[in-house]
Amino acid sequence: MSYLVLHNITISYGEIPVLRNFNLNVEKGAIYCLTGPSGCGKSTLLKTICGILQPQEGEILLEKQPINPEKQTIGYIPQYYGLLDWLTVKDNLFLGKKIRKIPCSSEDEQIINQLKINDLLHRYPKELSGGQQQRVALARAWMLQPQLLLMDEPFSSLDSFTAERSLELFLQLWETQNITTLFVTHNLREAARVGNYIVMLSDQPAEVREIISQKDFNRLLC
Ligand code: ADP
Ligand code: MG
Repeated sequence: MSYLVLHNITISYGEIPVLRNFNLNVEKGAIYCLTGPSGCGKSTLLKTICGILQPQEGEILLEKQPINPEKQTIGYIPQYYGLLDWLTVKDNLFLGKKIRKIPCSSEDEQIINQLKINDLLHRYPKELSGGQQQRVALARAWMLQPQLLLMDEPFSSLDSFTAERSLELFLQLWETQNITTLFVTHNLREAARVGNYIVMLSDQPAEVREIISQKDFNRLLC
């Protein structure tokens, strides 16, 4: 059985279904890039998986259990990073662990060093560049060692140079530990670099058009 199963998910805002009978099976330890037209429901899908939104129909199973953000650890990086303005970088980083009563570990420092944010710990989010905020959001999620990581267009608001560098850092981090990741992007080149699988979504209500392996996708892009 798949690691993450989305089975017949229907979710609507009011009358209009954004996802209708949506199905996706995700294997453990892979990065799935979700790509599709703007407004098709990609962000809605991630918010549903991490429990911010409740589906009207269907079920989501993570490791065979109905998904439950209180019992399972799900890292979610929203499009604009979701850092708390009134907390320092350090407090932002450790907030998730504090809430879940997870003790600090030596890996925390390693992640902070690897993502090059050790000199930023006493700053506030407003004192950071977009790339730095992005790295803090990634470190915060990664330090939880989540069973599942959800990233919503993580690099889309960065300039291309910073986006490229951030992507490299993310891939280096991911190589150390293959956390199962859903990564939303509308950038096909980025999808080809980062995704073990590329999931092509249709217009709203979104359904999976095709799932393409990285190798085949790279061949298609050439
Ligand atoms: P994507 O991330 O693929 O661009 P979204 O999931 O953000 O798309 O949105 C899917 C659809 O749902 C869009 O038509 C959007 O306008 C609508 N939508 C998103 N959030 C809300 C909301 N809170 N209330 C009503 N409609 C919404
Ligand atoms: Mg979106």
